[in-house]
Amino acid sequence: MNSGFNSGMHFEGSYLGDTSKLSPDTSLECKICWWVYDPAEGDPVWQIPSGTPFSALPSHWRCPNCDGAAEQFMVLHTDV
Ligand SMILES: [Zn+2]
Repeated sequence: MNSGFNSGMHFEGSYLGDTSKLSPDTSLECKICWWVYDPAEGDPVWQIPSGTPFSALPSHWRCPNCDGAAEQFMVLHTDV
């Protein structure tokens, strides 16, 4: 229940750790190496089962390709 909280800052394309903005099937792309996390596929490197939303990844999860932090992933906008 954090309604009313507003940082006043907007970084387009970056979710900045606010996983509440993400829908369960949102794909995110590493802005360092462009590796994409697709919830439908999960992440075999981290043994994340398919169907795991980005918001449900463990807090220590990092980009399996470049070891970048999850916070710097960018939301991929797809037409649905
Ligand atoms: Zn990466």
